[in-house]
Amino acid sequence: MTLLCVSIFVESIDQARRDIARAIEAGAEIVELRLDRLTETEDLPRLVAGFSGRFLFTCRPFWEGGESMLDDEGRRVILEAARAAHPMSAVDIEFNALKDSPKLHNDLAPTRIVSYHDFESRPADLTKRFVAMQESDAEVVKLAWTARSLRDNAEAFELMKSGAKPTIAICMGEAGQISRILAKKFRAYLSFASLDRESSTAPGQVTIDDMKRIYRWDSIKPKTKVFGVIGSPVSHSMSPAVHNAAFESIGFDGVYVPFLVNEGYESFKAFMETFVSDEFDLCGLSITLPHKENALQYALEKRWKVDKEARRIGALNTFVGPNSKRSKKWNAFNSDSSAIIGTICAALGIEASDLSKRSIGVIGAGGTGRTAVAALSALRCSISIFNRAPDRAEKIASEFGSKKVRIEAQSIESLADSSLDVYINTTSIGMSPSVDASPFDFGIPRMNSNTLVFDSVYNPLETKLIRQARESGAKTVGGIEMFLRQAAMQFEAWTGQPAPIEVMRRVILERLSK
Ligand code: NAP
Repeated sequence: MTLLCVSIFVESIDQARRDIARAIEAGAEIVELRLDRLTETEDLPRLVAGFSGRFLFTCRPFWEGGESMLDDEGRRVILEAARAAHPMSAVDIEFNALKDSPKLHNDLAPTRIVSYHDFESRPADLTKRFVAMQESDAEVVKLAWTARSLRDNAEAFELMKSGAKPTIAICMGEAGQISRILAKKFRAYLSFASLDRESSTAPGQVTIDDMKRIYRWDSIKPKTKVFGVIGSPVSHSMSPAVHNAAFESIGFDGVYVPFLVNEGYESFKAFMETFVSDEFDLCGLSITLPHKENALQYALEKRWKVDKEARRIGALNTFVGPNSKRSKKWNAFNSDSSAIIGTICAALGIEASDLSKRSIGVIGAGGTGRTAVAALSALRCSISIFNRAPDRAEKIASEFGSKKVRIEAQSIESLADSSLDVYINTTSIGMSPSVDASPFDFGIPRMNSNTLVFDSVYNPLETKLIRQARESGAKTVGGIEMFLRQAAMQFEAWTGQPAPIEVMRRVILERLSK
């Protein structure tokens, strides 16, 4: 069983005892005590007195990224005293110290973790080092290095699975977070978490609360299916919290993680080529900025099944893994476009086929604006695109407009002279932290109680645009409805079950109201 370990840096005995109690309360199965600042052993019994759980004692020297200035013998004395104070605990011994001073190893069995850390990059001799560490007489091997990209995690998973001895393999940094979250799936000896964001002892550590509540640590098993969102940046994404809570609520054996993939098609392709494999159990992906176009290009290259709408838009946001083990082909679609149409129709209480009778203003000509225009033009709506950069609006208008579908590009300032049935904001104006801005600051259209204003921005929940529209008597709908609809479509495609919309809504509302 993979242990969930909270790492605590001992600054003072009282602080550490408080933190140990909090870690155990939060569900830590083992607590690492970083003893780097200790130079004397006399306080050690008091540090651990009364705690029945397991500890891992570490006294990391400065030359291995820690703070201890003691020599090998000085640190051995500290570790021995800690073990004497709490006998069933484990100790961490640096591989480099072990090589030079075999004595450090004495009397610290049964659980000795031999460790190596590289805070710069992946060690060039990683495999050789791993083999040498496996051959030491330590019971557990730990390798931690800074991930150069997500692909380093694949190597970490391989080490976790292939080691003859229980292994800890960690990729540090944001790109390495999945090596921590998925450690249990790949049968690592343990994974480290922090008590809170401020007390993290290594780059990329996830808090124990997030490990357990967001990433469902307790439910992860070797056969758990993996899902995730590809983006850059991706740490702000609410999708992991939303989809994991939804999996939990229907008892689905899946975990959804963030995949930080650098900009550019080559990085996207490298990710897909590495992780779309039987060993990784990747079964579904959400795609966000800046990879929606890359995802389409990749799916077409692979001759995967891509829905017509995604081809028309030129971008997609969902991949669904093959239904059967024999097929290697994935499905791809764009759930944003149906989410936009669904949100407008639900707010107006009409069918999509009735939308063509309404005049629509799309504010913005980026990816979401383009998606909205593609979806609305397929329904033969007449559309005005209001954008700051006129050429982008003109390009979309000429691409999707035709004799039967009237689309015109307008300056964003001409919103003031407009009077349309529906306005959709697809710009990021008004998004947190710029909450005092609104596209209607360029000009407020003439609106009445039949007008609908739909703001695709969902953070904050109520934007300035929504307030302005309401004050002008218009109906309003916020971006959360679109987010929920596109996420629900993805969930249903992945699990084959109805999405627990209210669970998903509660998670978003909880996170946005924080
Ligand atoms: P994008 O491709 O970068 O496009 C951004 C658009 O915003 C462009 O039209 C840009 O105009 C305009 N813009 C940005 N800052 C502006 C400013 N200060 N003044 C005037 N125009 C400005 O981004 P995207 O992918 O379309 O996403 C846009 C927004 O859609 C996001 O911020 C998000 O809130 C929302 N969204 C919501 C959902 C959902 O599920 N609710 C899903 C996807 C996106 P220029 O062309 O002149 O630069």
